[in-house]
Amino acid sequence: MSKANKQQIYSGLNSKAVHAGTQRDHFGGVNTPVQPSTAIEYLNESGSVPYPRNFTIPNHEAVATKIAALEGGEAALVLATGMSAISTGILSAVQSGQHILMQSNIYGGTRAFVDILRWKHDIRVTLIDRMTPEELDSNMTGDTALVYMESPTNPLLDIIDISSVCTWAKDNRILTMIDNTFASPVNQQPLKLGCDIIMHSATKYMGGHSDLMAGALIGKNDFIERCRTLSSVYGMSLNAVDLSLLERSLKTIVLRVQKQNSNAMEIAQWLSKHPLIAKVHYPGLSSHPGHEIAAKQMSGFGGMMSFELSGNDTSFRDAFLRSLSMISVATSLGGIESTMTIPAQTSHSLLTPEERNAMGIHDMLIRFSIGIEDAEDLIQDLERALL
Ligand SMILES: *Cc1c(COP(=O)(O)O)cnc(C)c1O
Repeated sequence: MSKANKQQIYSGLNSKAVHAGTQRDHFGGVNTPVQPSTAIEYLNESGSVPYPRNFTIPNHEAVATKIAALEGGEAALVLATGMSAISTGILSAVQSGQHILMQSNIYGGTRAFVDILRWKHDIRVTLIDRMTPEELDSNMTGDTALVYMESPTNPLLDIIDISSVCTWAKDNRILTMIDNTFASPVNQQPLKLGCDIIMHSATKYMGGHSDLMAGALIGKNDFIERCRTLSSVYGMSLNAVDLSLLERSLKTIVLRVQKQNSNAMEIAQWLSKHPLIAKVHYPGLSSHPGHEIAAKQMSGFGGMMSFELSGNDTSFRDAFLRSLSMISVATSLGGIESTMTIPAQTSHSLLTPEERNAMGIHDMLIRFSIGIEDAEDLIQDLERALL
């Protein structure tokens, strides 16, 4: 019997990250081999007719098993992008004519999908600013089938009380789905907080090296089977090479994210004392409005933060960004390298300045994805650029 088939006797997150799902090759190599074939013999005992678009290849099974283990779920599906996980998850949970309660300050791509849901699928969506049981109560209808949330949010790191939303939804027999991208399974495991469906943009912390795109859905077996059927038809599966890259990356996710957590805490504290920084949004700081709930539902505060430079002179902001040496100004997040973006120019560029200000997204706001470099070097980079 190969090692991969032996009874699994580990329980820690690092052990799961390294071992869960591995399908060893017939040489006894310790890794799942890359198996990119699209023509696969089918006259075998299993009776199934394999085709990679239907998520049937071993590289998919290996990564899906690992991701399910990391989130503590029954099953997982790995898709081509985070957006394919969002669209597949929502369309598998909700039928035409039904209604969704969704947090208003969600990821921009999810917000764009709301328009598709409304116009092409006849699904009604109510966007809610404060995800409290009272607000949910007053906005639910007889057709409400799903509550969709995200915590921490982009870019202000707002925190939703996940278990209170899930308790409310269970009482009302409504499904819950969460975008757990910012926290990663290392810092937050929403199934344990009562959530039904988790999605990840695996392009971010799961991939972790800014070199692949992928998405993941985690939930109960029957729900994931429904997602698999739908996304096979839509053609949202991921190729064997990127699945293999993702499997390799996930082996170090706990180490990476823990280093990002500790770097972020040190940097947030340093920034909050700097005279040229007006405000730091990081759930690990006791000054953050969501700090207590974050401390209750997260095991680490994450590697994402945002901060506001003093004043409103955007040329000071741009000079600061240009003066950084190690930290890049680049889109995306969750990589081992530190990056910054200006949300007013990127994720929220389509809104008017008035709309942005109403949401608290000012021109001097910078989103910071903290990498695994040495905290002293990152602080030195910031200090020099702020001179
Ligand atoms: C990036 C991102 C997505 C979308 O993921 P893609 O892999 O880019 O499709 C969804 N949610 C959050 C929070 C993200 O950061």
